[in-house]
Amino acid sequence: MNEGFNCPACGKPLQTATVCETDLEVCLNGCGGIWFDAAELFRFDEQHEGINDPVLQKLLECPTAQVAENGEKRTCIKCGIKMKRHEYREGSGIYVDECYGCGGLWLDGGELKAIRENPAVLQSNQEREVMAKEFSRKVQDEARRRKEEEEARRRRNRHQW
Ligand SMILES: [Zn+2]
Ligand SMILES: [Zn+2]
Repeated sequence: MNEGFNCPACGKPLQTATVCETDLEVCLNGCGGIWFDAAELFRFDEQHEGINDPVLQKLLECPTAQVAENGEKRTCIKCGIKMKRHEYREGSGIYVDECYGCGGLWLDGGELKAIRENPAVLQSNQEREVMAKEFSRKVQDEARRRKEEEEARRRRNRHQW
């Protein structure tokens, strides 16, 4: 199955691989790179994720996996614009190519494995989770406070009647 995308790193045709019900574009016959649509990588960036998925295990052990040379900017396979290279998570030391047009992400061969084994990625994910929980707690607190205020106001109004 090939939707006609070519590898942004080595130019070979990409293959579609279904991992945990997600379709990824993979450079199986070339450099071992993987294309993720926006936000898809979050499902696979920790070691325990997709651990029982045979396709994912095969991708991680892809014999052709190699990190392509840095320097040259990759072009997004979906929108054709130049991608930006940045560190995947602060302190990870792993640089990935991201498209600011569609949010797609390109990993060179071997980078998914490196990300999954990277302690900075795990720590950053955990911190994000804590922050998300704190944020939703604040939102709930604020909603409760407003409701109490509203009820107090209603009680005052009743007194005036
Ligand atoms: Zn390739
Ligand atoms: Zn794009």
